[in-house]
Amino acid sequence: MSSARIVVVGTGYVGLTTGACLASLGHQVTCVDVDKAKIARLAAGRVDIMEPGLAELVTRGLTSRRLSFVVGARDAVADADGVFLCVPTPMGAGGAADLRAVEAVAAEIRDGLPSGCTLITKSTVPVGTSARIRDLLRRDDLPVVSNPEFLREGTAVADFLGPDRIVVGSDDLDAARWVAELYRDLAAPTVVTDAASAELVKYAANCFLAIKLSYVNSIAELCERLGADIDAVTDGMGHDRRIGRSFLRPGPGWGGSCLPKDTSALLNIAESVRFDFGLLSAAVDENLFQRDRIISKIAGAVGGNLSAARIGLLGLAFKAGTNDLRDSPALAVASVLCAHGAEVTAYDPAVGGELPGMTVVDDAYRVAKDADVVVVLTEWQEFRRLDWAHIGELMAGDAVVDTRNLLDPGAILDAGLSWQGIGRPRRQ
Ligand code: NAD
Repeated sequence: MSSARIVVVGTGYVGLTTGACLASLGHQVTCVDVDKAKIARLAAGRVDIMEPGLAELVTRGLTSRRLSFVVGARDAVADADGVFLCVPTPMGAGGAADLRAVEAVAAEIRDGLPSGCTLITKSTVPVGTSARIRDLLRRDDLPVVSNPEFLREGTAVADFLGPDRIVVGSDDLDAARWVAELYRDLAAPTVVTDAASAELVKYAANCFLAIKLSYVNSIAELCERLGADIDAVTDGMGHDRRIGRSFLRPGPGWGGSCLPKDTSALLNIAESVRFDFGLLSAAVDENLFQRDRIISKIAGAVGGNLSAARIGLLGLAFKAGTNDLRDSPALAVASVLCAHGAEVTAYDPAVGGELPGMTVVDDAYRVAKDADVVVVLTEWQEFRRLDWAHIGELMAGDAVVDTRNLLDPGAILDAGLSWQGIGRPRRQ
């Protein structure tokens, strides 16, 4: 295969990255979305999401005419060799993945697809979705392939172009291999398998990461109770190559657009086959406990009473490097604080605008002004480099709660403030 004609439906984090990267690999790509304003902006080269390298790839694709943006999937697919579904699959009723967008696209394009065109699911979908799409299409000349995406927000382009692996699964193995060929220039290990296994890989991987994070947060809690230091413990664990260093940092609980909905969806999938996935539900419960522990730490730092406490938050995004607020643990903590009557001011280098219940400011030092406590919720490195002595002067109180163990406790102490992290001894 030299260059394939590809349609990508959905131009969010996954769809836009897929479209722009496949165009950069030499394919002829049309990206489709229902959001007309977004398509108009993209066609003019304007990218709303914060992803290094993405805007440049979009501009290059537009200039080379390998990439175009249109509204209306039905017409766009008329001469496609392959159609990628990259639409949302949010948490639906009962915790299952909501497949309405996937089904809507399948129904929309059904009669417009040319014979032999391969339908490729990149959205995260439950086991059995490939079969469900085939039923919806009601045609036997259209192979369906599951090709789950593993990119991370904030490094989406680098992850797409340098993946740890590519997974393609279908009951039509020729179609799966054809999809794998689209990526041949990436030289990544490729797993070619059946549809159900490919669909399960994505949930199995994401839920493993959620369990790992919940485990580390539990160990951090043990450290606090036993007088140990989580940074030393995870350093010691991380040297073990069977464990690895990634996803070993404690924090305010995991969140973002994927882990909460994917853990919920896999629990729902397990339930559908009467499997009690106690390990995973414990990880989900632990994540809620972690949030409660953070709230207790903040309450403790203001003398136990959150109502009318002035709280400055550093960070709102679910992790550094993104402006995505979906299911952000920082936002969840903020909303609990607001519900207790605290006066919350927040700053995030990538987030502006208004958020309910709190004041969002555009300068880190403004969150410190008259604050009883300053809380770090997102691991933006620039927070380390703030002038903490100046923050100390601006604050009414002297407490810093660092839910990411990001700051240098010595620098905080030198500023006349106290420092409390996660799983580490308090410093004052
Ligand atoms: P997103 O919300 O950023 O983007 C989805 C896009 O699809 C939006 O632009 C929306 O307007 C569009 N859309 C919705 N319905 C449509 C329709 N009927 N026709 C055409 N366009 C439509 O979503 P995302 O974060 O890119 O996630 C997409 C899928 O990829 C999800 O299943 C998600 O679980 C999975 N995924 C996401 C990530 C991630 O880090 N965000 C990583 C891997 C996999």
